[in-house]
This record gives sequence, C-alpha cells and structure tokens, in this order.
Amino acid sequence: MTPPLDLAPSAPGAPRREKSSGGVKFYLTTPLYYVNSKPHIGHSYTNIAADALARFRRLEDREVLFLTGTDEHGQKVDKAAVQAGRVPKEFTDQMSLSFKDLWKTLNISYDDFIRTTETRHKNSVCRVWIELQKKGDIYTATYKGYYCTPCETFLTDEMVRQQVAAGQAIVCPDCKRPAEAIEESNFFFKLSKYQGWLTERIEKGDEMCILPQTRRNEMLGFLRVNKLEDLCISRPKNRLAWGIESPLSTEHVTYVWFDALINYISACGYGDDKAGDRFKKWWPADVHIIGKDILRHHAIYWPILLHALGLKLPKLIFAHGWWVQGGQKMSKSLGNVTDPVEIVRHYGVDSFRYFLLSETPFGEDGTFSEEALISRFNTDLANDLGNLLHRTLTMCEKYFGGEIPAGVSKKSGSVLRNHVNVLVPVLVPLMNKLAFSEALSEIWSLINEANKFIETSAPWTLSKQGKTEELKKVIVPLMEVLKAAAQSVWPFMPNTGEAIWGQLGIKEKLWETPFKKDMWGFFEKGGKVSKGAPLFPRIEVEKK
Ligand SMILES: [Zn+2]
Repeated sequence: MTPPLDLAPSAPGAPRREKSSGGVKFYLTTPLYYVNSKPHIGHSYTNIAADALARFRRLEDREVLFLTGTDEHGQKVDKAAVQAGRVPKEFTDQMSLSFKDLWKTLNISYDDFIRTTETRHKNSVCRVWIELQKKGDIYTATYKGYYCTPCETFLTDEMVRQQVAAGQAIVCPDCKRPAEAIEESNFFFKLSKYQGWLTERIEKGDEMCILPQTRRNEMLGFLRVNKLEDLCISRPKNRLAWGIESPLSTEHVTYVWFDALINYISACGYGDDKAGDRFKKWWPADVHIIGKDILRHHAIYWPILLHALGLKLPKLIFAHGWWVQGGQKMSKSLGNVTDPVEIVRHYGVDSFRYFLLSETPFGEDGTFSEEALISRFNTDLANDLGNLLHRTLTMCEKYFGGEIPAGVSKKSGSVLRNHVNVLVPVLVPLMNKLAFSEALSEIWSLINEANKFIETSAPWTLSKQGKTEELKKVIVPLMEVLKAAAQSVWPFMPNTGEAIWGQLGIKEKLWETPFKKDMWGFFEKGGKVSKGAPLFPRIEVEKK
C-alpha cells in the first residue's frame, strides 16, 4: 500500500483575511473538551465539522468567531493529575496542549481557545453566581443522597427509589459503578422553576432550534415525562478543591458542568467590564455543535441558566452522532480508540476530514473502518476529483502550452456554467442545517458532470482535427469548474482546495477570496496553469 502524497500544509496558524470582513457575525462553538484523557476521534469529528462550517462562513464574507477549548476542573481531572504525579494546573497545561496540537494537525482554524482555568473565565463564572443570587434563583440546602464520583453526578431520587424498590445495591445508572451515600451542604440553582418556560420554548422553536429533529423530540419527551429537579451547582472544598471558588462561600467550588457551560459567554466577554460591546456583538451564539451524549446539559441546563440571567438563547444546538467500530461507541473508557494522529499519518489530513464529513449524515451514527476510508479515497478523491484536475491540466499543457486561452470563458460551457453558478446558492441552505454530506455530494455532482463533459466532447479528437476554437471551449469551462471546486471543497479540505488553486495558477489567496454571486468567468482574461504531482494517487491494497 502506498501512502498518499503529503500535501503542503497551509501557511502556519490557519490563514484568514487580516482585516475582519465587516459581514454579518457568526459565532460557533464546540464543547470544551474534558482534559482527563487525550483527544480521540470523537473530538476530531466535532472540530472538523465546526471548522468546515467556520471556513464556509468566511467564504460567505461573514465575520466569524469560532471557539473551542478545554474543560479543566472537577474531580476526574483532579484524580487523573494525581495518577500522573502532577499538580492539577501542571497536568491541565500539558493536556490542553495535546488538544491544541491535534487541532494543528487537523488544520482547525479556531479563532479562540478558552481554558476554564483562565482568569477571564473565572471572572464570568463569579458574575453568574452573583447575578443568579440577585435574582433569587440560588438557595442553600443540605443534600443527602447518592453520588457517583467517576461521573461527578448525583443520582436523582427517582433513580434511587427504583433501585431500592428492586432490592438492588445503589449503582450509577450511567457507569454502573457503586454510588456513595453522602450528606453535605450545597448551593442549588432553581432549574425546576423554569421547566414550563423551557418546554414551551422548545415546542415553539422560536428562539432556539435543536437539530436533528429526533434530538429535539427526545428533549421534549424528557421534559414532558420528568419533573426537573433543582441543580446542585457547588461542591464542598473539603471534598474537592480543584474548581472555581464560589463568590458566595469560601467553603465551596463551582460544579464542573456549571462552570464549563459558562465558557460560551465568558469567551465573548460576559461579566468583563472592559470588554465594551464585545459581548453584545457576539452573543447569542449562532450554533453550538455538540455530541449527542451532552445534549441534556446544552438543551436543558444551559437555556434555563441563560434565561435566568436575562440573556438570549443560542440560535441552534446541533447534536451529532458517534463513530462506532464493531458496534460500540469509540471512547477512551471503552478502550477502542482509533488515534486520529495515526489515521492522518497514514492517509493525510484531508482524506480523514473528507471521510468523516461525507460518509455519514451529520447527526447520525457512523461506522469507522480503514476499508471504508480507502474506498472513499479511491473513488471520490483519486478517481473523481484527482483525475479531473490532472487530466484537465495535462490537456491544457499539451494543447495550449499551459496558457488558459483568454476571451473564451464567457461565451462557453452552457451546462457546466449553470451548474457552477448555482453551486453556492445550493450549498448555503445545506450548510445552514449542517448537512455536510449532502453539500459534498452537490460538489461531487459538479465534478462528475465535468468528467462526463470531457468524455462527450472528446477533446483529443478535436485536437487531431485541428479544431482549436472548439477545443478552447472544452478546456476553459473545465478550468472554471476546477476553480469553483477548489473554492467549495476548501472548507472541507483546506489543503486540497489550496493545492488545486495553486495548480490553476491563481495568484489571490483562496481564503481571501469570498464566493461571488456569479462564479463563472474567472478565466475570461486567461491564465497560466502550473501542474503539480497528482493530489490523490490511488491507494493499492494488497490482496491477502
Ligand atoms: Zn457513574
């Protein structure tokens, strides 16, 4: 098996336009990743999807704030640090870097990376405590109940009641480990008070939308059947010191989930008196991209907390599915992690990005396998896109010495021309609902039409017959298609987009060239190609 040619990486630090475009703002976030273990394929999936959306929005001339980061407090981190023989801060510094390294490897163009141990975040969390207390939405109570230490959650009364009724030992419903009986004084947030309000919001979908629809229905079902209990938002320091101290008590730190959710507002300046209009400019978020396992925190706790603070709700919460291998969720705790760095080393970063976003509709579960990745690579990347580029440029060199004929574009290519001009208008609504696989198949339908156009117009025959004018009307339209393809695949495969762009001899930077209303006609003034090595040499799999 030959590994694919390594593409030249983009300019360091994820290139983008130097000045903000002044276009309509777009604020998107990923979850903050918990640093108790190293990043795996699930984290990669979320950030690759977010990156594709962020880059697409930038090409639409939107002003983008793309936020990711790390969640660094809580018992699990505290324990992992002890096991690693480190103090928590040292441990989280190191783990946080392993996420940053992966984002570099995967070409993730985030604008801000927030760590919950940063001062800006701690200040916001304190402001939230104080605001909620002013509103009368926080109270203290002695809590007697069962607690799962690994999951850092209390069991609900209902969970305990069911297990007692069944005569079982009390275990955590998530991890099945024994739960501890504890009694302590804590702060509670009045979640229950807002249940009716939230149910109505989700039913109406007027302020906040949850996608896919099945996830929205799941949340509504949950709210209709269960009575929300108030949320315990503190932990006693004597049990856990690694957290953000509550401004209301020196004996308590903030519950890690409560702390983590607040990052979405702390990153854009909530509670920072020096931030000026920054918060007003960016909030509410346009989309929170999350995995389906943390939907309840985002679709129930978070909107209620925002509402209690008098803030707007995020416009969209999108919960994506999981990648499974052998039918089990891939995560560290199950010990079947597929290391994203290894995959990239073998197959290249763009093949990995392309596979994850094209193989399965975003929102559904997918099955990851090397065979499936190789098959996509050979079919879509090597055969369809790679061949279109390589043979078009080869013909341009052979027939026109690499010069793209001028004055031809605007009077040629009727079918391809329509297809190119409607491409972005077709992609926009798909990207609005994060339908990445559908967007990619739209781009591929253009690529395949261009490949068919080569077959039906048989440029080699035109060349033999000396029909130069007709030959120009075959080659130039193909250049227009390749330019449109380079630009529209760039959000998904940045290196590939830039490599095609370079081979087409385009001098402007791709990331500084927003989509135009009519894409066709770029090569009206001609140009000069500079053909490179094939981008996607086929992967030959040895037969066993
Ligand atoms: Zn548990």
